[in-house]
Amino acid sequence: MAKGYETNQERLAVLSSFGKDLARRAKSRCELCEASGVKLSIYEVPPVPREPDFGICAFLCENCLEHADHPKRFVAGESWRFLTQSLWSEVPALQALSLRLLRRQADSQAWAREALEDAWVDPAIEEWAAREK
Ligand SMILES: [Zn+2]
Repeated sequence: MAKGYETNQERLAVLSSFGKDLARRAKSRCELCEASGVKLSIYEVPPVPREPDFGICAFLCENCLEHADHPKRFVAGESWRFLTQSLWSEVPALQALSLRLLRRQADSQAWAREALEDAWVDPAIEEWAAREK
């Protein structure tokens, strides 16, 4: 059984303890758009488990986090082209998130469609990306 978390506060404390390792992995840049010198926050690539899991975390700038987290506010466009790079990340969470964000704009953006056609993604990642929230 997974350990229960009495309060959200407790869960957040565990989550924030990942920050140091995430910062190291991200080299203090946003793991999607590679912005540096900006505030980075932990984003759990949904579906979010009860117990915080380092393996589903991404370290993102405010802009990426905002758009990743709010599909309705997502604005498709050329500015997301960096996703064609992050899609090839060695980090499964970043692959799943990139895949998801590329799919969100595949209807309107030819470059996103092409990137998706060219990509080979592990079936487990495919499945993860499809399970939005
Ligand atoms: Zn970013």
